[in-house]
Amino acid sequence: MNVAIVGTGYVGLSTGVCLAEIGHHVTCIDHDEKKIKLLQKGTSPIFEPGLEELLQKHILSKQLHFTSSIQEGMKGSEFIILSVGTPSKKDGRVQLSELEKAAEQVGAHIEKGMIVLIKSTVPVGTCERIKQIIRNHSKNEAEFHIISNPEFLREGSAIQDTFSADRIIIGYENRDAAERVKELYRPFHAPYVLTNIRSAELIKYAANAFLATKISFINMIANLCEQVGADISEVATGVGMDARIGSDFFRAGIGYGGSCFPKDVQALIHTAEDENIDFSLLKETVAINERQQQILLKKAENVLGDLQGKKIALLGLSFKPNTDDLRQAPSIAISRSLQERGAIITAYDPVIKKWDSASNGNVQLKNSVTDALQNADGVFLVTEWDEFRRLPWPALLETMKRPAVFDGRNCFPTEQVEACKKIEYYPIGRKPII
Ligand code: NAD
Repeated sequence: MNVAIVGTGYVGLSTGVCLAEIGHHVTCIDHDEKKIKLLQKGTSPIFEPGLEELLQKHILSKQLHFTSSIQEGMKGSEFIILSVGTPSKKDGRVQLSELEKAAEQVGAHIEKGMIVLIKSTVPVGTCERIKQIIRNHSKNEAEFHIISNPEFLREGSAIQDTFSADRIIIGYENRDAAERVKELYRPFHAPYVLTNIRSAELIKYAANAFLATKISFINMIANLCEQVGADISEVATGVGMDARIGSDFFRAGIGYGGSCFPKDVQALIHTAEDENIDFSLLKETVAINERQQQILLKKAENVLGDLQGKKIALLGLSFKPNTDDLRQAPSIAISRSLQERGAIITAYDPVIKKWDSASNGNVQLKNSVTDALQNADGVFLVTEWDEFRRLPWPALLETMKRPAVFDGRNCFPTEQVEACKKIEYYPIGRKPII
């Protein structure tokens, strides 16, 4: 089948290489010409495990093409997947201008029988509006179909998630078009949920808002654990083994971040507000998360006193491991707060090699953990990259002014920390080890 994908970012590119892998002919379109040139050479502009291999494989197999021309990309395609960004506006509502612009461009080249899938996360009612925009810009009044097909892949495991999706949501008006979409995705062997378009749009927000709430919930339990002498790892294990609850997204830490949860929770709060529903549960999810992002700072102040002039090393900057995405990463909130308190901030991340100090907090990026930790008064473990677990910690702690480790992701089991002689270890929801 011939597929065009408009918007070659984390979602569009991951989807594109996976659709090529299951045998489709895919053209990825992006208006960022630099990105397209890079991709045409087989270089991925993003860090995503397994992506570059598939990219190069299917450029060679000629099943994957890249262009900045919508007209060229859409030519001969039965499916047009829209996966452009839908970021938050300042007030927390969804910015739909990229999607509307893409719809205008798609409208100019739409042909009879084409099926337009909206993969971007969009508020209820948006697909209907996008359909209207496409129709308004169609020169030949071609009859086309619209499908709401929200995406659930996670950065860091996007390829694996696409090949083993829990479900594929198909929100449709026209049953034949829905059947064609089922055919498109059939080799992924995922269960389908066929719904009306509005339900499909809402499923995505409800899922993300629920997961965010689950994280805020376990973080509150972790804070309680610290007060009552319980251990969050044991509590979360015991609670998560209940099949009705489950252990996924049930780890305490310094809160969620990324390009999806924060904006999607805000968007759902606004959708509810527009319908005169006060979704106070979600407002509290957000408030808890914002407080949780500051928890290492509080612990550091309790232990180290005034942070003015103190050197704090951050390990990990991306919002989670195995991605280079910094959007809404907790590291940004932490850096800004540390800067406000006059701390000197160094940092190391395995893949983040650029940092905007003016807007994200004044951080000196180092090329190694050793450089970041040198003479530090404390280290914050911000992102649980695997390599941090394997570090020669005893030797590294020797290089610090004070071996104070504030572990925002509970990376280390108690026995391992206890075996480390010279350490002051402050995890989340567990007893410190000093
Ligand atoms: P992104 O910012 O990484 O990519 C969007 C791409 O669209 C960019 O490369 C941009 O240049 C391009 N673009 C914008 N307007 C265009 C146009 N008119 N023509 C061609 N290209 C255009 O975004 P993303 O993270 O891939 O997210 C895309 C959508 O998927 C969002 O709605 C997001 O909420 C949703 N989503 C994201 C994830 C995730 O993990 N990133 C997961 C599920 C759903």
